[in-house]
Amino acid sequence: MKTLQELTRANIWSLKPYSSARDEYKGVAASVFLDANESPYNMPHNRYPDPLQIDLKKKISKIKHVNPENIFLGNGSDEAIDLMFRAFCEPRIDNVVAIDPTYGMYLVCAEVNDVEYRKVLLDDKFQLSADKLLAATDDNTKLIFICSPNNPTGNDLSITEIEKVLNQFQGIVIVDEAYIDFSEEPSFATRLAEYPNLVVLQTFSKAWASAAIRLGMAFASTDIIGILNKIKYPYNINLLTQHQAMEMLHRHHEIDNWVKILKSERVYLEESFAELPCVLEIYPSNANFFLARVTNAVAIYNYLVSKGIIVRNRHNISLCDNCLRVTVGTRSENLKLIEALQQYKPE
Ligand SMILES: *Cc1c(COP(=O)(O)O)cnc(C)c1O
Repeated sequence: MKTLQELTRANIWSLKPYSSARDEYKGVAASVFLDANESPYNMPHNRYPDPLQIDLKKKISKIKHVNPENIFLGNGSDEAIDLMFRAFCEPRIDNVVAIDPTYGMYLVCAEVNDVEYRKVLLDDKFQLSADKLLAATDDNTKLIFICSPNNPTGNDLSITEIEKVLNQFQGIVIVDEAYIDFSEEPSFATRLAEYPNLVVLQTFSKAWASAAIRLGMAFASTDIIGILNKIKYPYNINLLTQHQAMEMLHRHHEIDNWVKILKSERVYLEESFAELPCVLEIYPSNANFFLARVTNAVAIYNYLVSKGIIVRNRHNISLCDNCLRVTVGTRSENLKLIEALQQYKPE
C-alpha cells in the first residue's frame, strides 16, 4: 500500500479541522455549559450531541468485535462513501475502480465529486476477477469498490478474490457489507489489522430495520478513521439517531430472529418464483432480496405497480436485462406478490 499521505488529497492532509465546543471540552464532569451558545431550556434536545458518538461506538464495538477507534459513523453509509471521495480523490485527476453491476451510489458520488469512475464487468455468474479489477487501475486509482453480498445481484463475492485485491492494490479497497447479516460468509470487519488499506461499510438500513434513522458504519485503520473524522460535519449523527441505534443494539437478539425469518422467506419466495411461467431464471442470493430474470421486466413491473406492488426494475443495468430485484417482505406481502404474478397474463 502507498502511504496514507500519498493517498490523501494534499488539502485534506494539511487541513486543520473545525474544533467544536464539544471537542474542546473533554475534561472533568461539568454541570454548567456556557460554551456552545445553546439554549439552557431542555425540551429535551437543547444540547449538541457527542461529535464522536463514543457511547454508541462502544456498544457497536461489542456486537461487531471492532475497536471503537476503528469505527466511523455516518449519516447512512452514503456519507462514508462520499467522504472517501472527498478525502482521497483529486477531482479530474484521480480515478476509482468498481465492479459492475453494483450499488448505484458509488457512481453518483464519483460524478458529484468529478472523479473518473471505471467499471469492471462481473462474469456471467456475477463473480469478480481480482486480475480484471487490478488491470483497470493505474497510478491515479485511489479507491476500489467491492460490494458483497452484491446489490442488485444478491450473491457473495469470492473471499479469495477480494483478498487478492487487498494484497495487490496500492490504494484503498472499500468492501461494502450492507447485506452481510444475511450472508453465511464472515465479515471483513475483524481483519483490519491484516489489511491497512481496507474500509468495510455496514449499515443500520437493512437487517437492523432502521433505514429511517440514517446510520452507516465504516470500519478501518485508526489513520483512515482519523481522516474521515477530520472532514465530516461536526455533529453528523443527531441525538435521536444515536438513541434509537442504542435501542436497536440492545434488541440484537430480535434482529437475529428477523434475519432468520427473512432468509427462510427468501427461500419460500424463490421456490414460488420457480413455478411461475413469467420467471425465466432466479439468481442465487445471500441477501434479503433476489434477482429474477423474467419474460418482460418492464411489462411485469408496470403490471405489479397497477396491483399496488412495487419491486425494483433492473432492466438496463449491466448483465441484468429483463431482471427484477425483489425484496423479501413478510409472508403476507410475499403471498400478495406471488398471487399477483400467478394471475399475470402477457399482452
Ligand atoms: C442499502 C445499501 C446501502 C445503505 O446505505 P445507507 O446510506 O446506509 O442507507 C449501502 N450499500 C449498499 C450496497 C446498499 O444496498
